[in-house]
Amino acid sequence: MAFEDGINSKENLDQGVAAIDLGEIHIIASVTNQGQGLIITGRKARSIKRLRNTKIKELQRKMAHCQKGSRQWRKYRRALNYILSKSRAQLTDALHKTTREFVHWCLENTIKDVVVGDVEGIQRHTSPKKKQTKRKRSRRTNQKLSQWTFSKTLRYLQYKLAAEGISLKKVNEAYTAQTCPVCGKRKKPSSRKYRCACGYVQHRDLHGASNILTQHIYGHYQEIVLKEYKYLRIA
Ligand SMILES: [Zn+2]
Repeated sequence: MAFEDGINSKENLDQGVAAIDLGEIHIIASVTNQGQGLIITGRKARSIKRLRNTKIKELQRKMAHCQKGSRQWRKYRRALNYILSKSRAQLTDALHKTTREFVHWCLENTIKDVVVGDVEGIQRHTSPKKKQTKRKRSRRTNQKLSQWTFSKTLRYLQYKLAAEGISLKKVNEAYTAQTCPVCGKRKKPSSRKYRCACGYVQHRDLHGASNILTQHIYGHYQEIVLKEYKYLRIA
């Protein structure tokens, strides 16, 4: 990732390192090398999307009953475009707030470098199985929108962190969510908690962030015992 030109970064003499795991349920889950954890829920973004999808479906149903191009049809299509642009603006706003909160938290915790798991592995974070029964078309749409959300989140993080003199680096996160940092066994987390037979337990997304972090710092997974953790909702 290259930083945008023209940003005058502040000098940052801090030492802390934080890793981010991006997701749909929790937009940002992060852990620092000093044992702080942060979760920023994606509830707001999900409710915006849900509402938008309901309205769009309704308008599409109405449009299907009109003659294409007719006055009524064009009226519905204007309404549809309005909903799309409005929900996009709301999502953008929610992502700005989310990334701003994250930067605040980094400053509070004297963070100098941030690593983020590559979004290639992001599909595993999309909503639980029950949603998968929906029609193929809507699933595809959802994935595309998620991709939009993730790339936007990354872009906002990049320049907001850079402005504070904090670096952001993408790292490969293959298997990070599945590997136990204590015994090295792999399993897919089946609930909100990652539990291993060896006794290790961690919140699933903080577990992912923690593995990204220790792999980056030490070159192998290691347990980070969290001293404190913050849970934030974006209004
Ligand atoms: Zn284990």
